Amino acid sequence: MQNREELKMAEKIGRVPVREQDPKVRAGNFEEVCYGYNEKEALLEASRCLNCRNPRCVQHCPVGIRIPEFIAQVRAGAFQEAARVIASDSSLPAVCGRVCPQETQCEGSCILGVKGEPVAIGKLERFVADWSRAQGGVPVEKAPANGIKVAIVGSGPSGLACASDLAKLGYDVTIFEVLHKPGGVLQYGIPEFRLPKQRVVEPEIDSVRALGVKIETNVVVGRTITIDELFDREGFKAVFVGSGAGLPRFMGIPGESLNGVFSANEFLTRSNLMRAFDPSSDTPIFVGKRVAVVGGGNVAMDAARTALRLGSQVTIVYRRTEKELPARAEEVHHALEEGIVFRMLTNPVEILGDEKGWVNALRCIQMELGEPDASGRRSPIPIKDSEFEIPVDAVIMALGTSPNPLIAKTTKGLETERHGCIVADESGATSRPGVFAGGDAVTGAATVILAMGAGRRAAAAIDAYLRP
Ligand SMILES: Cc1cc2nc3c(=O)[nH]c(=O)nc-3n(C[C@H](O)[C@H](O)[C@H](O)COP(=O)(O)OP(=O)(O)OC[C@H]3O[C@@H](n4cnc5c(N)ncnc54)[C@H](O)[C@@H]3O)c2cc1C
Ligand code: SF4
Repeated sequence: MQNREELKMAEKIGRVPVREQDPKVRAGNFEEVCYGYNEKEALLEASRCLNCRNPRCVQHCPVGIRIPEFIAQVRAGAFQEAARVIASDSSLPAVCGRVCPQETQCEGSCILGVKGEPVAIGKLERFVADWSRAQGGVPVEKAPANGIKVAIVGSGPSGLACASDLAKLGYDVTIFEVLHKPGGVLQYGIPEFRLPKQRVVEPEIDSVRALGVKIETNVVVGRTITIDELFDREGFKAVFVGSGAGLPRFMGIPGESLNGVFSANEFLTRSNLMRAFDPSSDTPIFVGKRVAVVGGGNVAMDAARTALRLGSQVTIVYRRTEKELPARAEEVHHALEEGIVFRMLTNPVEILGDEKGWVNALRCIQMELGEPDASGRRSPIPIKDSEFEIPVDAVIMALGTSPNPLIAKTTKGLETERHGCIVADESGATSRPGVFAGGDAVTGAATVILAMGAGRRAAAAIDAYLRP
């Protein structure tokens, strides 16, 4: 039980608001939306934490960061100590402080949230990570090299977390990445205005490299080299597959092959990785004046807000209501502030095009909510004779993704389930001895922190498997 006076005081101070770029200004640029806390704000916010004896926040952090401990260090002004506490459980704190769905995890279970506002754990984590990076980062202890080679497929959060833990244990780790830049979705999916690449993602990847991890880009595992060849030809003793879920889904409606129809993955990759947003880049993207984005998750919000910044008027088309939107509340709030229009209870039935094969409208049908389905959410039902058209120049489909089948197809004895996800147990062990897997490749599209957690558990399992 907390001291009642402390609890009352923390509730009275209220959560320290975070400074953000003005919505009208940021709608026209790719600079980071949120400025984060400065030292004074961080100290004040940290003073609200009750340092609970049984901290519920830690129980709901998928990588078990010792939250009250790091916040106590912030409160004492010992920011580098705070960074050390976080670093023992997370290799990507500046990323997680920015993109984790804290409202459903640590902050969602903070005791202060029962009657008032939870401690801003994510903003404090971000402050500590940014502060520590500016001072050169946290020195990490590393076991002596053991010469045992482990291969990691994919350089997203699961691969980076697995690589980093194994390197700390002394393994000789190589990450193989198909794209020309490492980072997975952190690099090609989540836009610059939410997650700056040069300032945040790349330094965090550099800190994994600093542990001795080698990263080989432009390698398609399954084509350039197979998993069997990694074992038989290259002498790797174990492989972790963290290849994500990058295969986009479409609706299967007429008109999806017209010019101007994109998957959100393609659209975001062209903007983020190929820098279409940068006027000096030689790989621009056509986006059109009016864009419809179909879907209601984080990916839909990112695609919509990117299209807006590229100069379009954007409408999000979603078949349920605002209450069921799967995107983080903060992202929906930011999208609304920036002027994105939401058309709820609306489902596309056809994409219409002109005589030259370019999109010119999206035909939709109005929906209503029926009984809850297997997911517990009320299922959308089309309303008869309610079809209408929205004039648009481009349509971006953000309907979810599945794992790419390449690795499963080219690896003998690797079991997958019907959606193409690799079958793995809690530790990441797959049906193929020596092959471990985790992150979106196993769960389907999920979150950064769950992928990191899976990478860390697999690193422990690989260590147990290889240790003589
Ligand atoms: C646009 C977008 C926004 C998101 N926003 C959030 C958010 O705000 N918060 C959050 O927590 N989560 C968010 N997510 C989800 C989150 O990013 C993912 O759950 C997470 O990145 C999964 O990590 P991973 O390591 O499993 O895979 P990924 O990040 O997908 O990384 C997999 C890597 O493997 C590489 N690869 C694939 N196949 C091969 C191969 N055959 N050979 C070599 N390399 C290969 C890929 O190129 C990629 O780099 C978002 C996802 C997207 C797409
Ligand atoms: S963050 Fe919240 S739940 Fe966690 S220790 Fe502090 S007050 Fe308690």
